[in-house]
Amino acid sequence: IDPIHIVGGGMAGCEAAWQAVQLGVPVVIHEMRPTVETFAHQTEGLAELVCSNSFRSDDDTSNAVGLLHWEMRQANGLIIGMGDKHSLPAGGALAVDRDAFSDDVTATLKAHPLVTIERGEVAGLPPEEWGRTIVATGPLTSPALAEAVLKVTGEDSLAFFDAIAPIVHADSIDMSKAWFQSRYDKGETEEERTAYLNCPMDEAQYEAFIDALLEAPKTEFKEWEADTPYFDACLPIEVMAERGRETPRWGPMKPVGLTNPHQPDIKAHAIVQLRRENALGTLYNIVGFQTKMKYGAQTDVFRSIPGLEGAEFARLGGIHRNTFLNSPRLLGPRMELRARPDLMFAGQVTGVEGYVESASMGLLAGRIAAYEALGRELPLPPQTTAIGALLNHITGGAEEETFQPMNVNFGLFPPLENVRGGRRGKKDRKIAYTERAKADWSAWLSDAMTA
Ligand code: FAD
Repeated sequence: IDPIHIVGGGMAGCEAAWQAVQLGVPVVIHEMRPTVETFAHQTEGLAELVCSNSFRSDDDTSNAVGLLHWEMRQANGLIIGMGDKHSLPAGGALAVDRDAFSDDVTATLKAHPLVTIERGEVAGLPPEEWGRTIVATGPLTSPALAEAVLKVTGEDSLAFFDAIAPIVHADSIDMSKAWFQSRYDKGETEEERTAYLNCPMDEAQYEAFIDALLEAPKTEFKEWEADTPYFDACLPIEVMAERGRETPRWGPMKPVGLTNPHQPDIKAHAIVQLRRENALGTLYNIVGFQTKMKYGAQTDVFRSIPGLEGAEFARLGGIHRNTFLNSPRLLGPRMELRARPDLMFAGQVTGVEGYVESASMGLLAGRIAAYEALGRELPLPPQTTAIGALLNHITGGAEEETFQPMNVNFGLFPPLENVRGGRRGKKDRKIAYTERAKADWSAWLSDAMTA
């Protein structure tokens, strides 16, 4: 059997390799470190955890990331298995001894007879002669490879930053001030009508808000980020205000096409819009409010917006270096690059976010590629599972225009019909999502064996 080439020996690449060799298919892992370094990695070990040492919640009864752990355990995942083996006490989270973890992943793959590890950068698109190849080069994909991907896929196919707008829990928004409405009343269904929430500002509130934006402390760009220009589409809101006090009012805060039902006779000076973030309608993001303001300052500044005085934030805004594909546009259903179907992509470069999410996409890519090498076709996991939901997010479920990297969350899962005799408390819903996912993942794993 010809080997599968895997570019990148990180979370996704190592998991993909492991899954393929479990099926008897050889792999060659190409890892550029230590020949070429990234700004974040410190060692030459495979599967290095570059920042926190946490795989987050290990609750596999009612938490989406805990469920993802469970699915990976059922599928004999290397990353989760090593995480368990080198775990540290951390309450309900799975924290990992990072050096022991990376050393063990490296040694285990190195010792496997079907694994070859080649050190060196793949400084362009992998050659066609390699046959089936999985590119898993992560958020810090080397520039030479990123440029080559841009060449075959086109200008706006690859992002180098993720610009995150803050996300607010819907039930913390004061609906005596805010209201649901799409600009110019676009949309007919209930779902479309609740797609946007609006918060009005009068002139004094707007001016005070601009002052607060300009004065708030910001996190500095690191040296390596400094030369990368902002794309106009993801300008931080405070940079917009620096360009001109009125600029946000012509951009994300424009007060047109909307009527405040609480004060229909007063025209708002500016309007902050929030867009529904998940199918459940429990989360809304503040449109166009990506920011480099420090976290403490963000909560103060954003709570000055009428309607958001008591806002609880599910995630604060940020702008980080992160190379990722516009996957919904570029990837086919099996994570293959439409422009070069012999190349699959996996891990954070596909627009999932986080160690375990990245590893889980490697798990799937490794299995898909290995089945192909064996002349079999792996059925795809259902969207009701955590891994199926992430796959769906990157291969078509998310909007191309606004595609942003995602952690696993129940908002990516198809809604539930009926929960426990009709009760739909938050906790019940999460339990029901988890139970459905576990049943479907087990069924998928056993179907896959006979495929
Ligand atoms: P990686 O684990 O980064 O692996 C990619 C590998 O490819 C690397 O080893 C790299 O050296 C190699 N490579 C790149 N280009 C080439 C090339 N051309 N040829 C050969 N090899 C190449 N996630 C969390 O869950 N928690 C955190 O706290 C966290 N903090 C982060 C902090 C920073 C600064 C960054 C940049 C990311 C952080 N992330 C965090 C995201 C995390 O890095 C990813 O979720 C995870 O590591 C992605 O796995 P991956 O396999 O896709 O990429």
